[in-house]
Parts: sequence; structure tokens; C-alpha cells
Amino acid sequence: MREIKKLAIANRGEVAVRIIRACQELGIQTVLLHSEADIASRAYRMSDEQVCIGPAELSQSYLNIEKNIQGALSCGADAVHPGFGFLSENADFAQACLDNKIIFIGPWPKSIRDLGDKITAKDIVTSEGIPTIPGYNGDSQDVDALIRECQKIGYPVIIKATAGGGGRGMKVVRTTEEARELITSAQREAKSAFGLSNVFIEKYLDRAKHIEVQVFGDLTGQAVHLYERECSAQRRHQKVIEESPAAQLDPQIREKITQAAITLAKKVQYVGAGTVEFLVQDKDYYFLEMNTRLQVEHPVTELVMGVDLVKAQILTMTGRMALWPQNRLQPRGHAIECRVYAEDPYSTGMPSTGPVAFQYFPEGPGRRFDFAFDAGDSVTPYYDSMIAKVIVWDESRPRAIMKMIATLKETIIFGVKTNIPFLLDMLQHPEFVEGSLTTAFIQKYFPQGAKPVNLSEREKLFLEKAAQQTDTMGENSSSEVPSPWNQTWRNV
Ligand code: ADP
Repeated sequence: MREIKKLAIANRGEVAVRIIRACQELGIQTVLLHSEADIASRAYRMSDEQVCIGPAELSQSYLNIEKNIQGALSCGADAVHPGFGFLSENADFAQACLDNKIIFIGPWPKSIRDLGDKITAKDIVTSEGIPTIPGYNGDSQDVDALIRECQKIGYPVIIKATAGGGGRGMKVVRTTEEARELITSAQREAKSAFGLSNVFIEKYLDRAKHIEVQVFGDLTGQAVHLYERECSAQRRHQKVIEESPAAQLDPQIREKITQAAITLAKKVQYVGAGTVEFLVQDKDYYFLEMNTRLQVEHPVTELVMGVDLVKAQILTMTGRMALWPQNRLQPRGHAIECRVYAEDPYSTGMPSTGPVAFQYFPEGPGRRFDFAFDAGDSVTPYYDSMIAKVIVWDESRPRAIMKMIATLKETIIFGVKTNIPFLLDMLQHPEFVEGSLTTAFIQKYFPQGAKPVNLSEREKLFLEKAAQQTDTMGENSSSEVPSPWNQTWRNV
């Protein structure tokens, strides 16, 4: 087994910072493979070496296999960590790393390929007796044939891209009248986003919880699970708040999904960190997909399980990781993660770009902040607008919710608008507090984002002053007046 002395990070933002931290603690040198747009960033400053692999356009940098491989080779990196998103679930990239004698921190290319195709993944789990959502995943892409399949399954149904991901391109169809238009547009969107227009159909579960199991495999074919996370608070099928353990999960279902996840991981000889996603509705559970990478929400598992998944990923590939014995893995307490987006919280997530004028994360026991920017850095329009994750741990779910509310109320980010007011509204909603929320939660209660509020005189004054402060930020300043609305002082 080869030692890793130098590790290249084929990613950016807060996950690059997360990987750098793990490497620093393991005594591994880091190289950031970055685009021209990411020079003023925390990851750039924290990494030991930096290699610019191209311009901001994704196809020229973060999604370009050749440039990432060349970047890693140019600095003599022994390994590449792909983070999440970008090339992390690209089997060709994993293979290119192996071909160039670079350790890919992740599973084997074959596992990525088999599980990345949603239909192949469904076939594998079905052969293991794991329930999948009823639907149609045959070869025909003829719109009339697909409409007939929708009718057979029974409305509502959901149309998904075979090669899809990131919650994109999915269409919920409720009647035959709208089926033709929605199927055609799903095929069109799939083609432009993923290069393949093929779609498949599933019964749409309208009161399901999104529950996923963290698995971890080693190089000998052994695998353990690290219990579950719940990610039902989703906007447009994308997660916003995650927690572990799941709220209100029937212990029998927990047992079944964790066992199903292990079965799948072992079946594909899964190596490293992976996530098996399920939808749980009433007393039934259904396999959704497996993500063959570190998950954005991995910190909640780290906090309740007392593990470091990123270090474990790296050590596994060097053969220096002894898998945790399953019977010693027990969740303790409760953890919640909120994704902080640079966006207007009052207008369904319109991204907000510009310099971060000032930021303050209120540290305290059981509070963790994984963030991408320092004051003075800019949020650019090129990439995903998630700029930070706020994660808390406490002894029980109610206490964790209280801690998250207190933490977000004190968090300050000036210069760009953030979704913090929206997160606070959600955390205080009775359905969230009770834990009964389903994936319909945001659409049902917050279709427009955070609830508008009336400003007090004091708040108006504060808003004016804060706007003046950020206006002095210089030429890159966002054209909109930066709104400290995103700040939680409005609740004081
Ligand atoms: P992606 O790979 O794009 O993230 P997933 O298949 O993992 O897509 O689904 C993302 C989310 O979309 C799920 O968590 C769920 O909220 C919703 N979803 C997907 N399939 C269904 C379904 N059949 N019924 C109801 N909701 C679904």
C-alpha cells in the first residue's frame, strides 16, 4: 500500500477546507486544484500548494478530467480527493486517476459506474430483495408509450433523468393532460444537463421522508453502517436542513434500511464513504439511489457517531484504517446541519453575489462552522451559492433545535444576503419541531421562502447603517443594496 504524502483537492469551497483540515491533522501536504475565480478563498489560503487548472467555466476547470489529472501530476500528488459534486461521481475520472498511478479517494470506478446509473442501481438492489419505488424503467423513450406507463402506474408520478443528479430535471406529473409537455421538457432538460435524454418514471410519494444511511467499506470487502440522516427539508428536491438521527423513525424501519444499505455496500464491494438513500412513507421504505462519495451533510453523522469520515476515507485508501466494529457504533445525542446559501431569503432563493464584508460565527460547545469564505472574499456567480454549513450537536433533538436557533441568530454575514431568516422560520415551524415533516414541508409552508416581516424603527436604522457599511466595499460590490435582512438581529 502506498503512503500519501501529498494530496490534491479537485474541488473548492467549504469541502476543500474540510479536506485540508483532515490532511493537516494527518500530516499530509495539500494542493488545491482551483479555477481562476477561486484565488481569493479560504481553501486557497489554507492549502500548502495551489495549481490553477483553468478559467471559471466548469468545463474548463472543475469538470475537466484532463486538467485535474495534469494539475495533480504537475505537483507530484500521490492522491486526489474529489470532495462532492463536480467529478466526485465520475467513474472516468476515478479511472484516469488509477491509470496515472494517483490514488482516488473514493470507491472503485466500477462501483461508481454501476451505482451512478439509477436504473442499474435499481436492478442491483432489486436482485437483493430491497424494495424500490414502483415505476417504469424500460428502454422505450417514445412519449406516447411513456404516457401510457404513467397511466398504468397511476398519478401522481415523477419523471427523472436516468443520468440525473442534484435534484435537477425532475418533473412531477399529476394528470394525463400535462404529461406530454412535462415528459418532453424532462427529456430536453436531461439532454442539456447530463448529455443523455433518457428518462424513467416512478410513482410520486407525496408524504415521504427522505432518510439515508451512511455506509463505509474497507479494501477487504467489509462494510459497516453509521446509522441514518434525515433530509426531508428540501427545496426543489435539494436538501436544506439535515439531521441525525432521523426524527420519528420507526425502529423496525431503521433496522431494515441499515441492513439493506450494508447488503448493497457489500454486494458492490464498496470502498470508503457512501450513502444509500431511501424514501420512507407510512410503514414502507423504498431505495432511491446510492451516492458514491462524501455527502454534504456528513458532519451530522460525524457529530453523533464520534468519527471523522474524511480522515477515514484517506486512511482507508492507504490501508491504515481498521474499520470501526459495527457493535461499537452507536449514535449519541442529536445533530442538525443548516446549509447557508448566499441568496435572497424572501424571493425563493435568488442568488446574491458580491464581497463578503464581514462575517461572524458564534462559537460555543457543540457548534461547528464549515465555511468557504473569509471577509473580503467574493461570492461569484459561477458556482453553487452554498457558502457555509452551520452544524450543532446537543443531547436531544429539542436541545439541538434550540441550539441551532440560538447559533443562527448570532451568526452575522454582511455583504451578501443569506437564507438565515428562512432557516430560522423553518426550524421554528411546528412540523419541524415535532419531527413529522415530509419532503413536501418547504413547498407546503414556505413556497416563497422566508415569511416577510415588518421592520421596527430600530431595525430600519440598523439596516440603513449596515447598508452604508457594505457600500464602501469597492468596485465589486453587488448592484443590489446589500441587505442585512439576512441577519438575525431582527429577532433580538
Ligand atoms: P437526485 O439524484 O437528483 O438528488 P433523487 O432521486 O436522489 O435525485 O431524489 C431527490 C429528491 O427528490 C428526494 O429526496 C425526494 O424528495 C424527491 N423524490 C425523488 N423521487 C421521488 C419519488 N418517487 N416520490 C417522491 N419524491 C421523490
